[in-house]
This record gives sequence, C-alpha cells and structure tokens, in this order.
Amino acid sequence: MSDNLFALFQSRFPAESSTTFIETEEGRIYSYTAMAYRSGRYARLLSDLGVAPGDRVLAQVEKSPEAVFLYLACLRAGAVFLPLNSAYRRDEVAYFLQDSAPAVAVVDPGREAELAPLAAEAGCKRVMTLDAGGAGSLEQEAATLDGDFGCVPRAADDLAAMLYTSGTTGRSKGAMLTHGNLAANAQALHQSWGFRPGDRLLHALPIYHAHGLFVAINCVLLNGTDMLFLPRFDAEAVVRLLPRATVMMGVPTFYTRLLAAPGFGPEACRNIRVFIAGSAPLLPETFAAFEKRTGQRILERYGMTETGMNCSNPLEGVRKAGSVGPPLPGVEARVVDEAGAALGVEAVGDLEVRGANVFKGYWRNPEKTAEAFRDDGFFVTGDLAKIDAEGYIHLVGRAKDLIISGGFNVYPKEVEQVIDEIDGVGESAVIGLPHPDFGEAVAAVVTAADGQSSPDESEIIATAKERLAGFKVPKRVFACEALPRNAMGKVQKNLLRERYAGTFKVAG
Ligand code: AMP
Repeated sequence: MSDNLFALFQSRFPAESSTTFIETEEGRIYSYTAMAYRSGRYARLLSDLGVAPGDRVLAQVEKSPEAVFLYLACLRAGAVFLPLNSAYRRDEVAYFLQDSAPAVAVVDPGREAELAPLAAEAGCKRVMTLDAGGAGSLEQEAATLDGDFGCVPRAADDLAAMLYTSGTTGRSKGAMLTHGNLAANAQALHQSWGFRPGDRLLHALPIYHAHGLFVAINCVLLNGTDMLFLPRFDAEAVVRLLPRATVMMGVPTFYTRLLAAPGFGPEACRNIRVFIAGSAPLLPETFAAFEKRTGQRILERYGMTETGMNCSNPLEGVRKAGSVGPPLPGVEARVVDEAGAALGVEAVGDLEVRGANVFKGYWRNPEKTAEAFRDDGFFVTGDLAKIDAEGYIHLVGRAKDLIISGGFNVYPKEVEQVIDEIDGVGESAVIGLPHPDFGEAVAAVVTAADGQSSPDESEIIATAKERLAGFKVPKRVFACEALPRNAMGKVQKNLLRERYAGTFKVAG
C-alpha cells in the first residue's frame, strides 16, 4: 500500500466527481475531475521530462489553481515540490537553485529570461513558465498529454516537499517534509477543526508557505469539499465572499484589516463556523475586538515550516486569547531549561516538539539537522514558551529575540503586552540593542493607534516602570509609522535591531 499523500487525498475525493474543488474570485470553477486530470497531465509531463521520484521541482510562480495542480502533480510523480516566495529577487533565487539542484524549474514568464541562465548553471534540465492566469509553457506542453497518470508509490519517509525557512538569521535552510509528515498533520487538523460535508474554505493566503499550501489546501482535499480561492488578501473581496464560506484561515494581519474594513460585521460572518489564525501572534486585543464585533472567538494555532502545526486551541472548549492551545493529537510538546531538563507549569523555557508531523531534517545539512534535534527525537523549535496548568501553551518570543540585559532575561512579549495597553499605542515591538553597560538594553518601537498622535516616550517608560521590574523597562522608545512585517505578518525584529543598533554607543 503506497503512502503517497495524493493516494490519501484520492481515497477522500467526493463520490460525485463533478463537485467543485476550486472557485476563483472571477467565478472560474475547477471540479475534482478537472483537478485530477490537470494534475495528472502535469505529472505525465514531469515524468516525460525525466523527473524521477525524489527529484526537486522548483516553482516560483504567482498563486493560481494551476500552481495547486503543479503541487499535486509533484506528489503524483513522486517529485519534491519546492515553492518559493514570488518576491525573491535574482540572487536569492540563484542560491535556492544552487542549493536544491532541481530537475525542473517553473517560473513566471516575466522572469524567464532572468532566471533561465541561473537554472541552467544549477544543472536544471528544463525551465517552464506559468503565469497568474494559468498560461505558459507548462500548460501548453501538458495540454495534449493523457491525464490518466495514477500515482507513483511512495513510502511515508519519502520526501514530498521542501520549503525554505524564512532565514532571518543566516542563510535559509531547506526543510525536508515527507509524505508521512504532511499526511499526519493534515489528518490531525482535519479532525481537530471538525471539517465536515458542506464546508467551504475561504483561501486568501499565499501558497508558497506551509500555512496556505498545507494547512489550508490539504484540509480541503481530505474533506473532499471546495474553496473560494483569492489571488491575495483583499479586505473588500473577503467581506463580499465570506457569507459563502464556513471556514477562514488567516494570518493575524487579515483579522486586523477585516476589523478596519467597511461593512465587516456579524452579517458577513453569518455562515462561518470557525476563523483560524496563526503564523504570527494574534494580539489579545484583536481577539477581543473581533469577538465584540462578530461574536466569533478566533481559534489560534501554532506551527512552523519544519513541523507543520503543533498545537491549536480547541474547536469545542475554551479558546484562550494569547495562547496557542494544547498540542494537537499525535504531537508531544515540552518546555525545557538550558540543560534540557523539563520545566514545570508556568516556567518559561525552550519549546520542543515530537511527532509524525516533524520534518526529516535540513536539506544537505546534517550539522544543522543534528543541532535541531535532541537525542530522544524532540525538535528544538527556537520558540520560548510556558505551559499553563490546563496544558495550554503560551509563546513568549523567539529564543533569538530573548533579551539578556545586565544578566537578566527579558521576554519581549511581556513588555509588549504592557505597552500595547497604553492609550494611544497601536502596537509595539520590543528588542534588545547593544549597550556598553548592560550588554543589551531593552528598547521598544511603537506605532500610534488609529487617528492618534505618536505616543510619548516618557509616558510609556513611566507606565512600564509602574508595571514591570526595572530591568524590563525600555531605556528608549522609538515611534514609527508601521512595524516592518514579512508576507506572513511576522514583525521583522532583525530590521529594527539594525535600524537602532547605534542607539547606545558601545565602546570599541
Ligand atoms: P514559519 O516557519 O515561517 O511558519 O515560522 C514559524 C514561526 O512563526 C514559529 O516558530 C513562531 O515563532 C511563529 N508563529 C507561528 N504561529 C504563531 C502563533 N500563533 N503565535 C506566535 N508565533 C507564531
């Protein structure tokens, strides 16, 4: 029996094969039959081009139904799907091509001339094109082929996909995800979030990232139902289409933008059974404002490229604002100290996870892989967390964002929570800056709340002094228009650290 993920999807396809799989914003419909044929043709083309099981297929393309079919074609052909953020520039793509050595690259036609020589240098056999409308040489060459491809047998441990980590420190690494990893995670999510007949997902996430690609699409495929597929998040389009959906997944920024969108309220959400958030922290204020406006308690979950989803607030039961919930079925989580000893309730330490969802390792990087795993198989997430008495996990920041000021540990989130509550503050990011005396000094970067003027530095420091131990109080507070974020809504603290690095002059 093959463990190919596509075979698992096939076993769940709807009995009525004309059932819709994807409906685009313009109303184009792709049924399950169409998806099976289109992905079958692409799989046939890949195998005709000599793509063997285990070969990488790199795709730097815009979001489209055809890009989803290419993902599924790779699964069927036993190839390793390697999607890249379409924002990556030439030098970045050159690195990914060299590092992953793909057999085939699929790129946007507008970038073919720029990228084809780089692909050739990396030993790539063919470069094909696919544009946002689904046209290009991939589609042209596949059009006349037989779509009745089947599915190459794969073991659970064989690679299905490779996603590069966002790489805010050092070069990004290729995370190797197996058919077994993706199947285990999709099944855990499908069950935990109660997917059922008649569900329709509103999909506005990018599909080069685990969130939009695996969390969202794999749940839909296991459910045998359809999704409303938007090229990108656009608040007006989402508000218009929401009444036709039952589930929406998004990064926290989607939810703050919806709250600011005209006409967004309970009426638009009348058929939604669950809003799911993740990839970056959902502020408790956003959670509260969303509930007040719509009556819906956003369900927050936590995961990462290397592990898929690790924990989630429950569908039934208490959803706690500021927590990412207990571990998902099949996932073990623990918080440990620097020596690797497990910590008790409410103690902050390194979060480690283990389960069938956890990746196989970093591509051609045994050293980093060895560093990332403990002897007993737990993966070191790099996130700092505590577990409360009810088993819910609370993230307090990335290990690399931990500030050590004068020998004391400062968890940025604790300080951010205090600052965010101050009137006039929109949001904040707390960082450590080099300091001649303390090693690192706590500093905060804040934005003004809508329609208010820049919050006052001395007032923020005074309030923080009332509520926090002295070593946690920011020495400086900088105002900015908006915090820098990447496409998944994560605040890019590395950019802020660079911007304000010279604030406290360090001798020498
Ligand atoms: P990525 O590999 O790009 O998915 O990034 C994974 C990282 O995003 C995690 O290690 C966390 O630091 C962060 N993250 C994901 N989900 C959440 C969440 N719900 N709350 C806070 N941080 C999150």
